[in-house]
Amino acid sequence: MPSEFDIIRRYFTRPVKRALLGVGDDCALIAPQAGMVLAVSTDMLVEGRHFFAGADAADLGHKALAVNLSDLAAMGAEPRYATLALALPEADETWLAQFTQGFFMLADAFGVELVGGDTTRGPRNVSITVMGEVPAEQALRRDGAKAGDDLWLSGSTGDAALALAHLKGGARLADAALAHCLRRLHAPFPRVALGLALRGIATSAIDVSDGLVADVGHIGERSGVAIEVRFAELPRSRALEACANESLAQECLLSGGDDYELGFTVHPNSRAKVAAIAVELDLALTRIGSVGAGDPGQVSVRDAAGRIMPIAGKGFDHFGS
Ligand code: ADP
Ligand code: MG
Repeated sequence: MPSEFDIIRRYFTRPVKRALLGVGDDCALIAPQAGMVLAVSTDMLVEGRHFFAGADAADLGHKALAVNLSDLAAMGAEPRYATLALALPEADETWLAQFTQGFFMLADAFGVELVGGDTTRGPRNVSITVMGEVPAEQALRRDGAKAGDDLWLSGSTGDAALALAHLKGGARLADAALAHCLRRLHAPFPRVALGLALRGIATSAIDVSDGLVADVGHIGERSGVAIEVRFAELPRSRALEACANESLAQECLLSGGDDYELGFTVHPNSRAKVAAIAVELDLALTRIGSVGAGDPGQVSVRDAAGRIMPIAGKGFDHFGS
């Protein structure tokens, strides 16, 4: 059985690049580049809550980092460093090798250095803190949306929730659709390049992790504006298009969660700039609604005829009923 220190040395220690000091001391030492501030965020994944017991370790390493990078993306920050706090029921080296493979593949793809962490025995739990750099005045905050802005969405929502519905027996997907939706659920790809491209263009941004309506509602609350979503404009993947149960499709699109797309607001004068970013990044960017002067935080979803649609679940809340 390897000791805690064997594990840290074997699996988590790599030569530093940008950091002044990495794994092995009491603290890491890092410095942002001149003119930049650090954007810092933590997300935790708990077994039985965010992933099933027995989940694929490489997927988990990928996803735990991906959901954190998604927060940096939503801030317009360039990923730089991460710390990893890991609780494991036992020192399973096969699991550790796969987990770190998933983690470092994504970390390397985005130039993220693992600079520290903590390793302890306990119920399986992965908590990652990421740090990125952004010029302070260009950070994409939630509080900058203005009445009259357009509301945009990257990619599409609902696929991860559809996969989950299938796994729980509430939907039956064909093989290709299931494979696509499972990738979206288990190995989301953070929209970092989009966040960087939206610096100086978006007036606000959020990553859609808890459901589209709930998350754009957070922009509304923080910005003191109302948000209107045009349901008919919401893009659907082929898997969601093929979903025969329209009420399930609607729930997945509006409140599914685990999407890791970006919702963002932009002044209508900048529509051409957003369209150019979509081409440059080869990523669908869709105008799905608008920002209004109504009740702060209020989200109205309208159907094609302009009628307000009743929304069942708003989004995921760990302590909600
Ligand atoms: P301390 O007792 O000073 O908190 P630890 O013994 O917990 O230090 O950790 C030793 C070193 O290994 C520290 O630099 C810490 O940041 C790093 N470390 C521990 N666990 C991890 C991990 N899972 N991933 C990355 N670095 C880790
Ligand atoms: Mg420690």
